[in-house]
Amino acid sequence: MVKIGVLALQGAVREHVKCLQAPNTEVVVVKKVEQLAELDGLVFPGGESTTMRRLIDLYGFFEPLKQFAAEGKPMFGTCAGLILMADQIDGQESGHLSVINMKVQRNAFGRQRESFETDLHVTGVGEDVRAVFIRAPLILEVGNDVEVLSKYNDEIVAARQGQFLACSFHPELTDDHRFHQYFVSVVEESKKN
Ligand code: GLN
Repeated sequence: MVKIGVLALQGAVREHVKCLQAPNTEVVVVKKVEQLAELDGLVFPGGESTTMRRLIDLYGFFEPLKQFAAEGKPMFGTCAGLILMADQIDGQESGHLSVINMKVQRNAFGRQRESFETDLHVTGVGEDVRAVFIRAPLILEVGNDVEVLSKYNDEIVAARQGQFLACSFHPELTDDHRFHQYFVSVVEESKKN
């Protein structure tokens, strides 16, 4: 049994909770810093990264989240969550939590394609993973220690660095729960070590 939290300051929280629910997983809606201590892994939902960052600071989550990552506990960010995890954001001086060695560009898809759906090959997850993009970021560059999990039109849209996973799209908005199962397996693995 693993205990996984969804950071519930803003964004698509309920959808992630639904995707994570499984016999081997207890899901916690995280609203208070104290709840982090009981978790084996944490999900950052999609939403608006600037708002999320403001709330992270307002509720004193910043250092505890950095600590959570430093303890080696797995994290999974989707869309705005990916932006929170990147160590560089195009056009900004610094990243937010900076847990994945990658540079991201916010709202990277053109106007006409601000939102769209497609099927993607995602390494370790599946050949035809349903991917919903909503004003999505993309990953411009990754460090040597980062594994590219998926590309869309030659652009990187999902990556993994050790126990940290991130994708540009929203697996939580589909009935395809394989990306969440993959994250649960990363959490299970990290708990064994
Ligand atoms: N464009 C949003 C941001 O920059 C992300 C959009 C999303 O999470 N659907 O935070």
